[in-house]
Amino acid sequence: MTILALDFGGTKHAAAILADPSERRWQKYERAFAPPNATAQTDIEMMRSLAQSVLQGEKPDAVGVSFGGPVNAHTGIVRLSHHVPGWENIPLQEILENEFQAPVAIDNDANVAALGEYHYGAGRDCSSLFYITVSTGVGGGWILNGQPWRGCEGMAGEIGHTVVDPNGPMCLCGKQGCVERLTSGPYIAQRVQDILQRSRSQGRILRALVQGNIEAITAQQVNEAAEMGDAIAIQALQQAGWALGVGIGNAANFLNPQLFVLGGGVSKAGQHFWQAVRHSARNTALPEITVAIVPAQLGDDAPLWGAVALATGI
Ligand SMILES: [Zn+2]
Repeated sequence: MTILALDFGGTKHAAAILADPSERRWQKYERAFAPPNATAQTDIEMMRSLAQSVLQGEKPDAVGVSFGGPVNAHTGIVRLSHHVPGWENIPLQEILENEFQAPVAIDNDANVAALGEYHYGAGRDCSSLFYITVSTGVGGGWILNGQPWRGCEGMAGEIGHTVVDPNGPMCLCGKQGCVERLTSGPYIAQRVQDILQRSRSQGRILRALVQGNIEAITAQQVNEAAEMGDAIAIQALQQAGWALGVGIGNAANFLNPQLFVLGGGVSKAGQHFWQAVRHSARNTALPEITVAIVPAQLGDDAPLWGAVALATGI
């Protein structure tokens, strides 16, 4: 049995094949960066060539697909991509079924990664979990009673647009003080840049780290500076962690899952971020509710492993 797993990310795409889903080892695996001016068309072309490269003429028996944006999992139609133009209403499932002459199952990346962590990663011993990815955006996917819970319109799990500060800064979605607006990587970086531009005496370690090029500061560098003791960087990560923790605490109050699993680039931040997340989640949830928050185990491959679970219907 050959299962083809595809991951359409915002900036990176991946394809892999697996012969035995009980074995956690890819037969072939390819990952590549999308070009800067990508469109839906170039994304599909790139994925076609990655898939051909891993399949090497073999025909897959089933295909699972993770897509980095809202998807209707029932019809297999992509609603849109927030990062790449041209994805509006693309029937991706149909396109891929014609391409590979095999059944194709597709869902958004957070739901698929939740499935991956549930079957193959941090959630293997659970029957319910909430997977949260924190990177350029913030998304979430539920597993309840061992099954994905997508909501009646496929929009469940949007923790990124949970409002934690109604007077906070304006989010891309048009509301104020969303988790995503306070926790995602680009906003952590932007917040630090704003402070450093206003106050020339602060952020000595950060300034040295980026050799004075404040506009180029990334969330990863904020984390590096925090680990080295930079007060501004520590404060920025704590604020980001606080916002996410409030979102998690509320989610715990609503659905009381066994586990929260954090993935995505920002989740690789150190103790300052993690302590703040755990602390504010604990303070937000009712005292009777256990709030267990752990890092994702599958890293960047969580959507690919979830795609396997999706394809095999396990
Ligand atoms: Zn929002």
